[in-house]
Amino acid sequence: MQTYDVVIIGAGHNGLVCAAYLLKAGYSVLVLEKRAIPGGAATTEAALPESAPGFRFNLCAIDHEFIHLGPVVEELELKKYGLEYLYCDPVVFCPNPDGKAFLAHRSVEKTCAEIAKYSPRDAKKYAEYMDFWQRMIQAIKPVFNAPPKSIVDILGNYGAHNFRDLLSLLGGVDKTLDLLRTLLTSPKCSLEEQFDSEFLIAPLARLASELGAPPSEKTIAIGAMMMALRHNPGMSRPRGGTGALTQALVNLIQQKGGVIRCDQPVQQVLVSNEGRAEGVRVASGEEYRATKGVISNLDAKRLFLQMADPADVDAADPNLRHRLERRIVNNNETILKIDCALSEIPRFERFDHKDEYWIGSVLIADSFNHVEAAHSLPAMGKIPDENPSMYVDVPTVLDPSMAPPATTHSGLSFLRPTKLPELKALDSTARAGLMS
Ligand SMILES: Cc1cc2nc3c(=O)[nH]c(=O)nc-3n(C[C@H](O)[C@H](O)[C@H](O)COP(=O)(O)OP(=O)(O)OC[C@H]3O[C@@H](n4cnc5c(N)ncnc54)[C@H](O)[C@@H]3O)c2cc1C
Repeated sequence: MQTYDVVIIGAGHNGLVCAAYLLKAGYSVLVLEKRAIPGGAATTEAALPESAPGFRFNLCAIDHEFIHLGPVVEELELKKYGLEYLYCDPVVFCPNPDGKAFLAHRSVEKTCAEIAKYSPRDAKKYAEYMDFWQRMIQAIKPVFNAPPKSIVDILGNYGAHNFRDLLSLLGGVDKTLDLLRTLLTSPKCSLEEQFDSEFLIAPLARLASELGAPPSEKTIAIGAMMMALRHNPGMSRPRGGTGALTQALVNLIQQKGGVIRCDQPVQQVLVSNEGRAEGVRVASGEEYRATKGVISNLDAKRLFLQMADPADVDAADPNLRHRLERRIVNNNETILKIDCALSEIPRFERFDHKDEYWIGSVLIADSFNHVEAAHSLPAMGKIPDENPSMYVDVPTVLDPSMAPPATTHSGLSFLRPTKLPELKALDSTARAGLMS
């Protein structure tokens, strides 16, 4: 039986980041991955080799923002291992049927100038709104970069500017109550409190719903961060596609002597008589021993309910299985994503078409209700397939390396919320694929 200090189940990018930090700290590490390639939901693959040869698709993640709130890229020196981030600017284009359009640049100032063409009042409000959410991001950023339960680590991450922004949100009873109210409200209430114009409210609601719920849902006004992040730290994509992030991590892990084994679905976590995870068994029956511990890149439900002996889980925590079964629920909203290979980019003839509209995300969000329907119909078992609200990216406008050289543009990805558990990897006709 092969022995390592740590065995990691799953080579998603979070599993790989974990492996990289452990290797840097001097541990020996084995990463076991179920699929034939590492990366999980962060891969770029030639998904249609016959119908669209040379086209490379980001099968899941495309736009990277949150990673720049933490130190991972710099601390792991991923540039040295081949990662290069390209930043989108503009970051959003949302054409409205009334002839207006929301064109957001990386700069808040430039974005306000675009909004002011239609509504000077909303432009002023947008600057205030973004300032508020930027301060919120700085105030909570230290929490992202510490173990969830470690108050000491969280406090240790607070620098002077984080405290300043936190105080600017909490200073005084009125501000604190106002902040609480904002956090408890919905994107709808928050946006309608600020803005008059539908051409602005609809795309902001669409982005807030990236949190996975309709924009009328209370307590997710913080989804406004999804737009604020596009201004700062910015919206980026690795050159070559999201898989280039995974590849840089793989390069680092291999250079530091770590081992990644693909096609190795873990079936069972092996637990010692003392209750310590001491290894894993994969589908082929092979076992790997871990002297320091086993780390899971999978969610807690799959780990504790499917890969561990119930008696071992109960011995560790008698309430855990009940909590996982009953309290952690899936709201069943998921995403339908369609990847296409195109011979040219779609044109916005009614909106003085510029190719730069396709550098960031194009949002099809005609009105607040258009977005609301796309997110709430699936919860009632209906598919919002008639004129759906969508999030559309054409990654090759920013990064032509993802399509064959002779092609003008490719890699259109539509994302929209839906609930389609029965649709699995439907192949469509020529040059397109459909995934749920
Ligand atoms: C369609 C879609 C679009 C998205 N778009 C974006 C985006 O634009 N921007 C963004 O920031 N985020 C996006 N996300 C979210 C982002 O992709 C994920 O949050 C992130 O990739 C999760 O990484 P992870 O390492 O935590 O988990 P995963 O990537 O899920 O990794 C888990 C790994 O474990 C492996 N595994 C599972 N079972 C076993 C087993 N038994 N044994 C061994 N290995 C196993 C899996 O194959 C996988 O490789 C998107 C997600 C989806 C689904």
